[in-house]
Amino acid sequence: MSEKKPASTSNFIKTLIETDLKSNIFKERLWGGQPGPASTHQSGAVDSATIRTRFPPEPNGYLHIGHAKSICLNFGLAAEHNGVCHLRFDDTNPATEDSEYVNSIRESVDWLGFNWKENEYFSSDYFQTLFDFANLLINEGLAYVDSLNAEEIRNYRGTLTEPGKDSPYRDRDTHENRRLFQEMRAGEHPDGSHVLRLKIDMASPNINMRDPVAYRIKHAIHHRTGDDWPIYPSYDFTHGVCDALENITHSICTLEFEDHRPLYNWINEQLALLGQLQRPLPQQIEFARLNLSHVVLSKRKLIQLVREKHVDGWDDPRMPTLVGAKRRGYTPEGFHLFTDRIGVSKADSLIDYSILEDCMRETLNQSALRKVAVLNPIRLIIQNYDPEKTEVCEAPNHPQRKDLGTRAFSLSRELWIEREDFSEDPPKGYFRLFVGNTVRLRYGYVVKCIGFNRDQTGNVSEVLCEYFPDSKSGTPGADNYKVKGNIHWVDAHNSIEASAILFDRLFLAEQPGKTGDFLADLNPSSKTTVNIEIEASAENVKAGDTFQFERHGYFTVDADSEKSQRLIFNRTVTLRDSWKT
Ligand code: ATP
Ligand code: MG
Repeated sequence: MSEKKPASTSNFIKTLIETDLKSNIFKERLWGGQPGPASTHQSGAVDSATIRTRFPPEPNGYLHIGHAKSICLNFGLAAEHNGVCHLRFDDTNPATEDSEYVNSIRESVDWLGFNWKENEYFSSDYFQTLFDFANLLINEGLAYVDSLNAEEIRNYRGTLTEPGKDSPYRDRDTHENRRLFQEMRAGEHPDGSHVLRLKIDMASPNINMRDPVAYRIKHAIHHRTGDDWPIYPSYDFTHGVCDALENITHSICTLEFEDHRPLYNWINEQLALLGQLQRPLPQQIEFARLNLSHVVLSKRKLIQLVREKHVDGWDDPRMPTLVGAKRRGYTPEGFHLFTDRIGVSKADSLIDYSILEDCMRETLNQSALRKVAVLNPIRLIIQNYDPEKTEVCEAPNHPQRKDLGTRAFSLSRELWIEREDFSEDPPKGYFRLFVGNTVRLRYGYVVKCIGFNRDQTGNVSEVLCEYFPDSKSGTPGADNYKVKGNIHWVDAHNSIEASAILFDRLFLAEQPGKTGDFLADLNPSSKTTVNIEIEASAENVKAGDTFQFERHGYFTVDADSEKSQRLIFNRTVTLRDSWKT
């Protein structure tokens, strides 16, 4: 996929970037023109006055649809302005992070069509630099080792309406702070016995500025640095510094970090004043996170769904993960369209899941080849058709795209049709098969229903018809037949029996968990498997191929098809929104 995307709809972040790019001041702020940062710590080839964004996932779970918005936004803005977007794994919490997640995150970003090229970073790459910076801040009297425990720190912090209180350790002398911090780093102190805090202002109206924690002791194995570090930097201490070290210009994050912005700026500002970071410093910009109806977008809850086996793994097609979406047949283009359509704002809102489905339908309608499949088959016998004969009918691969050609499928005496396309007792306005009525077999002949048979249990098992040999679609005689019903079918002598999995919403509630345990809102019938008959041309399909089954929706060949030696199709999305009616 080409990286340069057509211009997206405008939004406040884009406007801000464009204003920045237009202003000469910004060009000066950006790297002073050339040749790049002077600081020895900063990296990244800075070639011109352009923007640099980043997508900073924590590798503690699989990416979800909310992340897709952030990815499309960060990579999209960079691509639109000839900029660069970094992929940075924000891996400062050894307890929950894993390289399995790192790999899947890479795959999902790549799947969405974005390329971070050489710009892949890990916060853990900066552990030594961050540690050096922390020492500098200690030397400057801007950080101290606190020996209160976590609960005491909380109690001293105050509340939204009351100022905090200084820790009794706040005025430790620099020498003592340095010694203790070195000992923490050397692994000489147990978890929780000390923390390093930034010395800002315990009376600040912004709680984030009340001497936030910069380092914690954690004797744990990190997925990349092993047991090198018994201390780990906090998110707040790490994030902005990493942005600055990578010369990020616009650090786009979700609204809950708005109150952290003064802290983000404070840390980078101090380090710039100490000559450690070159200006211009990155600016943090917040937008409202994506909230989507009928799903959960919290890694903690997604992990719970997987661990407790409420779903069949991270890539269960019902999961709102990107691996699940891919398996279901959702398209990267659909996510791009969705991101553009829902826009970017500062106000929280709940986006209806059907908007995402509409975007998938729109993109799939363009790309998916058509096939015929019968989802609930019943036999139709054309009694006046030669039992030895088979003939070829022709159907377009895509009704709007002639360039995609046509395909042949066969017709013979016995066909499969949808059970619902026959009625013993037709309601008013029913135009399909009932005794005495004529319909067109799509791409084939007009047939007249002359009777039906039942099985031993009394259910209709065979529909009996006669065909009109001069009525074949595409022949001159076809026009002489005016029928109201037009039904689809497959040839029973060579159709392929397969499985189709029909999905419904994973959660019945619009906002799962809003009124109690989110698990109580799970939809008990979110998945139904049916046996289908599909046209013989499906013989060569492979996992990941997506088709429109005429009248039924879009279906994708599931990865398990190969293992089970039977074609399994996941219904990606129906043709119309069945939730609206
Ligand atoms: P969770 O709350 O599910 O654990 P997270 O925000 O902690 O998710 P991160 O790995 O830290 O997950 O997220 C990486 C990036 O994706 C962050 O910049 C974050 O702001 C963004 N992001 C996460 N969830 C959403 C969402 N629902 N909408 C938009 N952006 C999101
Ligand atoms: Mg996070």
